[in-house]
Amino acid sequence: MNINITKSQIKDAAQQAYDFASKVTGGENAHYIPYLANIDSNLFGLSVMLPDGYSVNLGDMSYKFGIESVSKVPTAILAMKQHSPEVVMEKIGADATGLPFNSIFAILLENHSPSTPLVNAGAISACSMVTPKGDSDAKWKAITDNITDLCGSAPELIDELYKSESATNFNNRAISWLLKNYDRIYDDTDMSLDLYTRQCSLGITTEQLAVMAATIASHGVNPVTGKRIFDAEISPKITTLIATVGFYQSTGNWLYTSGIPAKSGVGGGVLGVMPGLFGIAAFAPPLDDAGNSVKAQAAVKKFMEILGLGIMNGDHVTITD
Ligand code: GLN
Repeated sequence: MNINITKSQIKDAAQQAYDFASKVTGGENAHYIPYLANIDSNLFGLSVMLPDGYSVNLGDMSYKFGIESVSKVPTAILAMKQHSPEVVMEKIGADATGLPFNSIFAILLENHSPSTPLVNAGAISACSMVTPKGDSDAKWKAITDNITDLCGSAPELIDELYKSESATNFNNRAISWLLKNYDRIYDDTDMSLDLYTRQCSLGITTEQLAVMAATIASHGVNPVTGKRIFDAEISPKITTLIATVGFYQSTGNWLYTSGIPAKSGVGGGVLGVMPGLFGIAAFAPPLDDAGNSVKAQAAVKKFMEILGLGIMNGDHVTITD
């Protein structure tokens, strides 16, 4: 089917989805990271960005929340940029685990592999792959410069969150050393874990995440700055990773019901990508059992439903003024 959508339909759909999701309750803030447990549960933001720079921003779209696992997306892109998608496949993998984001069992089940850069194990491994090897400051700069390029503006470290996570990340320490045991950490182990913890503690807004999502949707060109951030060939690779494991053990249910590949973080953020069409980001702290924001899911799902879109629908979709 050929479907044409206007920008005013996008704007109305975003507003309706926002109003609908505002009334959705349930879920709880992440409790295992003390900083996140104390964030105002009523915060809620929604942003949509098109490849030509048109955007819709609603609610708490300027609130800087913890990016958490959504940071796995830009660093996977960085590892692909620095080493190629093939090397990332070989050193980390591209397989869904079907298990929680922090699963140790998944590493053992997958023959000692981190599986994918979008779970904790693979993300720590991806941080270890970032160059220049052995130089923590330069690696951190590469990670944050890449996020700045993707968002068109810089993220900001939430120091309190970084301290809170560093003091409580015992499970991630176990994952790091288990991976080291299986030769899946490609730099200093503690440094790689620290970079991962720090990138999770970056503050980001839905406005910024929507630009990142739209950059992926428009094959590597940032719609705000007009800069090419990564080669077009990386776009389907990162979107595949997002589609297959973005919501961890509930990824299949998510894609089946929403029709859009999306990545979540326990800070309450969700980043969704419709290739060639738009990027979308939502944020609200209360999470479901798999660690995905309840309200953000409701908003993104409603937006897709109102517009009648789905990545698997096989429609030819155009967006016009
Ligand atoms: N920093 C968090 C952790 O490693 C990120 C998890 C997430 O957002 N799903 O546990």
